[in-house]
Amino acid sequence: MNITQLKKLSYDEVAKCNKCGFCLPNCPVYLVDGKESSAPRGRNAITRAVIEGRLEWSPEIEKAIFSCLGCGACTAACFPKVKTKDLVFRDRECLVNEGLYPRIADRVARFLEEQHNISNDENEERAEWQEMAKEIPQGALNKDRADVIFFVGCVASFFPMAQKIPVNMSKIMFRAGVDFTVLGGEEWCCGFPLIGAGMSERIKTLMEHNLEKVKSVGAKSIVFTCPSCYHTWKHLYQPDVKLFHASQMLNELIKEGRVKLKEKKVRATYHDPCDLGRNSGVFEEPRQVLKAIPGLTLVELASNRQLSTCCGGGGNVEMVNPELSAKVASMKLEQIAQTGADMVVSSCQQCLRTIATRAKRQKTDLVVKDLTELVVEAME
Ligand code: SF4
Ligand code: SF4
Repeated sequence: MNITQLKKLSYDEVAKCNKCGFCLPNCPVYLVDGKESSAPRGRNAITRAVIEGRLEWSPEIEKAIFSCLGCGACTAACFPKVKTKDLVFRDRECLVNEGLYPRIADRVARFLEEQHNISNDENEERAEWQEMAKEIPQGALNKDRADVIFFVGCVASFFPMAQKIPVNMSKIMFRAGVDFTVLGGEEWCCGFPLIGAGMSERIKTLMEHNLEKVKSVGAKSIVFTCPSCYHTWKHLYQPDVKLFHASQMLNELIKEGRVKLKEKKVRATYHDPCDLGRNSGVFEEPRQVLKAIPGLTLVELASNRQLSTCCGGGGNVEMVNPELSAKVASMKLEQIAQTGADMVVSSCQQCLRTIATRAKRQKTDLVVKDLTELVVEAME
């Protein structure tokens, strides 16, 4: 993207920013970094000045623009509803065009092009987690045709800490009699990391492949445990089939009586993943699932739903600036501690990784679980 295109796409939006600063207490990066250039207001000022020719792209600007988590919390606090996240992601496309971007993004783009996943493993290894789902016959997970496709996503497929998510989601669907399949090595990354990297024009091949696979299975719907895959399919792919996040499907299965839950005495809080809650509008279904577990007491975080604070794992910041990501995760842990909950539940593999890793490093005894894990425990 060049400045002329940026002006066309972003100028009216960025001009809505009146510099009031109401977004500042909502931006996790500003809260931990304290710099105006790391705040939504500062980023918008940069975008506007570049478009108006008062400022040139520079390494300093690159740093400011690539430190945004893409969490969208600023827009939730902004009266004119300035879409700073979208403005930042378009800035990144321009910066990539100028050669001003974190070079680690080239590696990820190459992995996606060559192996079709973010970890540069053989894509067939996407099925590795299936070895842990022993109660499900292999044939039941890998069918040629099914009503539902379970799109697992790269992180839950390849990162050991998150592999229990597809194991648990599959167990729940199998026990509830859902006719589903996974795509195994034929599932390719949805392309979400490329959006955050400012390289969204490279998504096309991944998108075409995934859409073709859905067609060949004849599925009527797709279920996602990853909020970012769900968000990408919902807003970019827009296929002709129904899309569900796992929390929505779990809620349906519980309401239909196909998933029955036993008592579990626990005081838990719920962390809204940015791409599921604020960015996709799914707030209530995960909470309804939690409330359906007898004995579970749900205590809300002070910043919840639209105002939820990112875990630190968004916007490729963990890859570009792990220190900043860790600071945001620590802030999240403090907010969780203030609820007095013994457990934090989320509905996202990246939130699970970020929060659990930080909790471990800080030696807290907080229990961190994905919703699917808690549901399987309550079923048994
Ligand atoms: S982004 Fe919105 S809240 Fe933030 S300074 Fe601009 S107008 Fe105010
Ligand atoms: S999207 Fe999140 S990290 Fe980025 S400016 Fe807005 S609040 Fe800050």
